[in-house]
Amino acid sequence: MASLTCVKTAMGKVEMKEMPLPSPGPGQMVVKTTLASICGSDMHFVDEFPMFPGIDAMPMGHEAVGVVHEVGEGITRFTPGDRVVPSCLYACGACKQCLLGDYSACTGGGPMNLLFGCQGEYFLVPFAEVSAAKIPDELTDEQVLFAGDIMSTGFGAIERADLRLADSVAIVGQGPVGLCATAAARALGAGLVIAVEPVAERQEMARRLGANVVLDPTKVDAVAEIKSLTGGVGVDVAVEAIGLQATFDTCLGAARRGGTISSVGVYGSTDRLSIATMNMDFFHRRIVTTFCPAGNDRLTRLMDLIQHGGVDLTPLWTHSLKLSETPQAYDLFRSKSGGVLKIALRP
Ligand SMILES: [Zn+2]
Ligand SMILES: [Zn+2]
Repeated sequence: MASLTCVKTAMGKVEMKEMPLPSPGPGQMVVKTTLASICGSDMHFVDEFPMFPGIDAMPMGHEAVGVVHEVGEGITRFTPGDRVVPSCLYACGACKQCLLGDYSACTGGGPMNLLFGCQGEYFLVPFAEVSAAKIPDELTDEQVLFAGDIMSTGFGAIERADLRLADSVAIVGQGPVGLCATAAARALGAGLVIAVEPVAERQEMARRLGANVVLDPTKVDAVAEIKSLTGGVGVDVAVEAIGLQATFDTCLGAARRGGTISSVGVYGSTDRLSIATMNMDFFHRRIVTTFCPAGNDRLTRLMDLIQHGGVDLTPLWTHSLKLSETPQAYDLFRSKSGGVLKIALRP
């Protein structure tokens, strides 16, 4: 079976190519894509990370929803025709981390448990029983696609900071993940929510999703403003949602002594972070990192939140193209122009 798929063929280059798709092995399933998208981490893979050794066409994409096409041996949760959403991180269900319920930290599926090939007509989900969930009839593809990646990551940033009722939160970066963190801070009961973002359309979206104050870091000293907005103390939780030393530093400066820095940005070419150790803040600080919480139960909970909890992230869909136009969509996404946030790719 072949599947027209967006593949990386050289540094900075993607193109559409017919790729062979294996029949699903035990525990796997093949899904026919109905909606896919491009994530910020796809851009890191295309523009910054080297090609995997021995692979000249790397299937791209880890955000999609679709209809089960074929299931492998041992799959009982799904049958062909079911609408499903996979987590972008798959999980074996049997390793130490999975047994603890920490599915995104799974080590049972190889060195990296990220889905690849979701920007294709069909894609394979390994360990499908654990790693995907059925979509309720009441919800659209556009409502639930984010549950597999950016929504889970953005909400995870706030949950893993152990946000308490009415905590103040600053979110540095209002790309798709940062915006999900803003929505999460609001949904999970934050008090003052401050977003830091230079792009006008993203500032507007931050307000729409629950930010009380939006600071433009090209115009003001964000740390000084955040301190002043919190009576000189700093915020309880500062979320890094870009992946740069400079924005990590903003979080270090913005969080109150004893507060939490929650990092969800993908640091890409920033392969090390530094942190000043010779000050009292260093000794009263919690830094947590989060890589997209995953798995069937996680997906189901997030879809419950969308269906019953008033969380609507569909405003993030700003553009729509054919799946076969995915390479053009990469150019648009990379440009960060025209208000682009999430691009809907449909077959
Ligand atoms: Zn992603
Ligand atoms: Zn595992």
